[in-house]
Amino acid sequence: MGSRIQLYFTKYKQDGFARTGSLKTWRREISTPTIWFGLSVIERYDFQHTVLSVNNAECFLANAYDLLSQDKNGERRRLIRDLATKMCFKCDSGGFQTTKRETKLTVKQVYSLQRELECDIAVQLDFPLNPQASRESNRTKIDRTLKNLEEVLAINDKLSILPVIHGYDKKMLDYALRKVGDILGHDPPAVGVGSLVPLLMTSKGSGRVGGKRRVIDTLIYIRQKLPETFLHVFGAGGTMAYLITFCGADSFDYVGWVQKAGYGVIQLPGVSDRFISKRKKRKTLSEEEKKKLLECACPACRQYSLSAFQDRSSHARLLRAIHNVYVYQTEIWRIRESIKEGTFREFVFERLKNSVWAPLLRYADTQLVRLGAYPSRYKKIDAYI
Ligand SMILES: [Zn+2]
Repeated sequence: MGSRIQLYFTKYKQDGFARTGSLKTWRREISTPTIWFGLSVIERYDFQHTVLSVNNAECFLANAYDLLSQDKNGERRRLIRDLATKMCFKCDSGGFQTTKRETKLTVKQVYSLQRELECDIAVQLDFPLNPQASRESNRTKIDRTLKNLEEVLAINDKLSILPVIHGYDKKMLDYALRKVGDILGHDPPAVGVGSLVPLLMTSKGSGRVGGKRRVIDTLIYIRQKLPETFLHVFGAGGTMAYLITFCGADSFDYVGWVQKAGYGVIQLPGVSDRFISKRKKRKTLSEEEKKKLLECACPACRQYSLSAFQDRSSHARLLRAIHNVYVYQTEIWRIRESIKEGTFREFVFERLKNSVWAPLLRYADTQLVRLGAYPSRYKKIDAYI
């Protein structure tokens, strides 16, 4: 069946709510679950090109707002074009970036840039909700997002457009999904869900709309409602990726890798940010974690000892970035593998057993059992959490 948004999703293997699949865009096919590495507007070309290329990253993202406002000499566009020859490129609108600024983007501005860069996925211009705002005000934002979807579909002649929905409760989600369905004439084959990440971060006002558990409930709800739809979650990378995949997400972003490498952060699967050198108020690598790092097969760890990762030099920063991106890209491959084998539930509990997300994982597991995704709660749950 054809679709006005030029996105087609095929589900392969299902394990609980987690699944593997393939998203066909106007340009290429993308295996799922997948992670999109966000480009930085200030970091130089070579650094980003090297880190993503040596790791065979599959997908990256940039946003139209940044490119329209901070790419005077065209270097970002050059980086994007070069990377896009070998990786899939999602171009976000930057609606989220403009919410706190005076700047207003138009649908045409965003689309023209997405068209010029020939992105694999063009994310529609949307208006993220504010957990502190009134229901009416958030409803107005949902309506404006829907209007933008109609507008971009009217001018689109080629690209794959990703509709974005927002909502803090079933009523708002139902409304947004019904309207998107009306616009397309069928259920959306692919959809992005926004406004969730601030809830995971316990940002101001997030308790008012249900907090972290609401993120789990929302994902599970959308997944139940649209079991065949590709579901992207904006901004939710890092260790929370395991959790949202467990709830049925097919795709997520990881935007902090450049900055984190700059701060000195080293990442390991399922472990939150760690530092090598001791300093006040930071978590340093434990002996066990250092051992894990020694076993790492990434292009940086294979060639250099841990001391080379430590200082403030640009080389150390590059090594940290290569290692961190490797960890997340290879974890995606492991996630796909474990879903295929039907062992994803064990995998996610193992990965998050020492993580801050462990209590939320237990909550998600309870919800999935209640819905019949698994016959009973995870057998070793008490040993893990
Ligand atoms: Zn490594």
